[in-house]
Amino acid sequence: MNTHNLMLIDPHIHMTSRTTDDYERMRQAGIVAIIEPAFWLGQPRTEVGSFKDYFSSLVGWERFRASQFGIKHYCTIGLNSKEANNEALAEQVMELLPLFVCKEGVVGVGEIGYDDQTPAEDRYFRAQLELAKEVNLPVQVHTPHRDKKAGTITSMEVCLEHGIAPDMVVIDHNNEETVKDVLDRGFWAAFTIYPNSKMGNERMVEIVKKYGSERIIVNSSADWGVSDPLSVPKTASLMLERGISIEDVRKTCYQNALDSFGKSGQMHESDWLEGTDVDQREKFSDNSVLRGGQTPVVGAVGTSGGLESNIVR
Ligand SMILES: [Zn+2]
Repeated sequence: MNTHNLMLIDPHIHMTSRTTDDYERMRQAGIVAIIEPAFWLGQPRTEVGSFKDYFSSLVGWERFRASQFGIKHYCTIGLNSKEANNEALAEQVMELLPLFVCKEGVVGVGEIGYDDQTPAEDRYFRAQLELAKEVNLPVQVHTPHRDKKAGTITSMEVCLEHGIAPDMVVIDHNNEETVKDVLDRGFWAAFTIYPNSKMGNERMVEIVKKYGSERIIVNSSADWGVSDPLSVPKTASLMLERGISIEDVRKTCYQNALDSFGKSGQMHESDWLEGTDVDQREKFSDNSVLRGGQTPVVGAVGTSGGLESNIVR
């Protein structure tokens, strides 16, 4: 993998489900910042308190944990489409959201949208679009895996109906069938690169060759399922290998993510240009990422040498 030492952003990754090895490998591959959307956890939640603690970890512990590996962590906060179908609980989560969307490091309302395209999903999608509008945050839209094309078009129409500008909306999980509709309407088009799947990085190369780099964003959506936290660097590397210009790679794997979610006012390039020094002696609520007897890493981390060279003895 050769990404010519480009700085990269993965604007959709669920680090709560990932390991410290992932953080180390991501940093070594050039990832300087990530966005973790609020999502479902596999196991359906039964209490509003579970949402509260999850949102708190996205703005607290996970942000700290990323910092311990030299990566800036941002998040989007929202009620995911799947759990919107538990309406009694969804009502309570809606009351919680305003308390979290204005916290430091929250760069959008997300990931929200449709899963099975039910009336309940529609209701809470719209309610959260109103919230995003009120607090002037970008929206990160999860598009359904079933009936994707229709679901994607509906998602955009509903955003417009609520008076949200297309450049404030990142439409996620696109494929060849949806990309043109999304770009033509002026929305950001994000692509999730899963291993061994339809939307692999070979296909991503073809999409960038065909549509260019304007408003196109690459992410991994890595979570607790079969997924790859290195999807962005691997795709960047393949694009370069296949003759896509370094400028187009920089836009699709870095700049467009920054330009779209940067509209939140919560994410600036200076955040990582000036401050990704690691100090693993630090603690969060008395908690460290280190275990008994491990030596803390302190100092600057980079794409060459990695963390190993920074161990304080
Ligand atoms: Zn996701």
